[in-house]
Amino acid sequence: MDNAFIESAYIDKAFPIGSGQTISQPYTVAFQTLLLGIQKGDKVLEIGTGSGYQTAILCELGAKVFSIERHKLLADKAKSLLEKLGYIPKIHFGDGFKGLPAFAPFDKIIITCGAPDIPQSLFEQLKTGGVMVVPVGEDVQVMKTVVKKPDQTMEVSDFNSFRFVPMLGNKVR
Ligand code: SAH
Repeated sequence: MDNAFIESAYIDKAFPIGSGQTISQPYTVAFQTLLLGIQKGDKVLEIGTGSGYQTAILCELGAKVFSIERHKLLADKAKSLLEKLGYIPKIHFGDGFKGLPAFAPFDKIIITCGAPDIPQSLFEQLKTGGVMVVPVGEDVQVMKTVVKKPDQTMEVSDFNSFRFVPMLGNKVR
């Protein structure tokens, strides 16, 4: 968060970060992180870099993080901030629906915006036995975990409801 809002940094609420987007509230970041079950060295794909807060948490847990952001300004800002803080994720400016086939498969995939449904293109980039954590829905989203079973089908579990900014397809420069 910008220095001007330092007083709000530890409040458990979502907060504007520019480009019409928000930093997820700490509880939500904790909840999604818990569901991912990160092991040191996991290759993780994050959709929605935003502020880079969730990215930093994943790096801190020892994951190798690839994060995609559709807003150029946010991607650039998060990249330089995370570098300054000593984290070395790969931040990509692009459309998260496409994932990063060149770096697939991933042990874990985390979507930090409200998805219209479970993105098939991303499920394809998940390792067998891997977990995707995705909030699905329009106004309100149900948090889901999607495990890729050995027969390549999905095992889906539902958790609490959350409110995220929507997952949108086109890039914004
Ligand atoms: N993980 C972030 C959450 C930011 S809010 C944080 O900790 O701050 C969700 C972000 O998802 C927004 O920045 C939004 O621009 C981005 N987003 C939405 N749809 C996307 C898509 N298709 N590809 C990549 N990023 C997307």
